[in-house]
Amino acid sequence: MALDPPTLLVLTTVLAASAALYLAIEWRSVRESSLLFWSAGFATITIGCTLSLLRSNGFLLIGIWFANGLLVLAHWFFLLGVSRFTDTRLSRAWYLIFATWLALLALPESQAWSKLMMLANSALVGLLALRASLLLRPHGKSLSIGAVQLRYVMLIHGLFYFIKAGLAIVPGTLIDLASFRGEIIQVSLVEGAMAIMLIALSMTGSERYRREQRIARLAARDPLTALYNRRALEMRAPRLLSEVSAARPGALLLIDIDNFKLVNDLYGHSAGDRLLVALSEMIRSALPQDALAARLGGDEFVILLGNASRERIVGLGSVLREQFHTTAKAFVTPEAVTLSIGANLFQHPPENLAALIDQSDAALYESKRGGRDSIRLVDCTEGEAQLC
Ligand code: GH3
Ligand code: MG
Repeated sequence: MALDPPTLLVLTTVLAASAALYLAIEWRSVRESSLLFWSAGFATITIGCTLSLLRSNGFLLIGIWFANGLLVLAHWFFLLGVSRFTDTRLSRAWYLIFATWLALLALPESQAWSKLMMLANSALVGLLALRASLLLRPHGKSLSIGAVQLRYVMLIHGLFYFIKAGLAIVPGTLIDLASFRGEIIQVSLVEGAMAIMLIALSMTGSERYRREQRIARLAARDPLTALYNRRALEMRAPRLLSEVSAARPGALLLIDIDNFKLVNDLYGHSAGDRLLVALSEMIRSALPQDALAARLGGDEFVILLGNASRERIVGLGSVLREQFHTTAKAFVTPEAVTLSIGANLFQHPPENLAALIDQSDAALYESKRGGRDSIRLVDCTEGEAQLC
């Protein structure tokens, strides 16, 4: 089958329609508005390509001016989608593009008509694609793989259209839009088909990857306090533990609220929730850089320290207990609502986190048994090895 312009256009129409459908289906499950704009862009290209076949039957206004205008509109949809994806606002000046396109209707039907039409069309499409690529710059945040792909595909696509605009003004270049004559038109049709595939794939990729990252982030966090949950701690702890040595001991602090049930019983579950959130904020702000914190469940929290010492553990524990005491004073209860902490200082970490937690749990139990509101430390770097 010869790849003459009408055949290429039919192929492009089919590809654009598939891309529109694919992105619309993706939108049905994800409901991200960017996908809807991108799908609308490809649907617009589908209509534009179909209409542009009409130029062969002499419908030049619909087949060229209107069809090319739809290509500009499609890229405008792409840009809108990217602005939604990147949470940026587009300046109203971008609406001027439509005024420019309308102004082309006033062009006299001279020899240069095809060239001017291609110049304007290519420059506008190039501008929209490059703006979209620019919006996808990292801006301090790391971009997903799909978004990086989309950024570069849009960049190359935009540059291609600027080269096309440049070629349109080179004297002697053959451009006859009415009969699809001229090499640039041929090359442009091939580029169009390729660009549809690459743009559509990177659009779905960018949204999918971001969704996966969002799900992974949610799965790692405790929903009430937004601290890591136990599973996330288990995944992150090995790296910290692998750096533990005699010169840089590690520590695990297990923190449990004393008489927390009384807050729930006397002030309600939501008051209990607020106290848990307040404690998590204290932990977050007191947490050293090289440490991890998590909520294990209920009123039990854990802090894993690298490069620890007895002084650091006691210092951190005292800060938390004092701050908590000030907040919990608001709850008048038959028995004081305070903090108990069981800590374990070690230079040879056990093979798993559960064993390490068990060691601190034994210390925490000692604190509870000894009347609560205290910190108990087992120092496995010294003579307390039998407890470790
Ligand atoms: P102890 O001094 O021995 O630690 O006793 P406690 O009253 O603090 O109770 P314990 O630690 O044994 O149990 C924790 C309680 O926390 C049990 C449960 O009712 C309550 N709890 C667990 N998860 C939540 C939560 O998400 N929100 C609230 N408000 N309460 C919770
Ligand atoms: Mg408790």
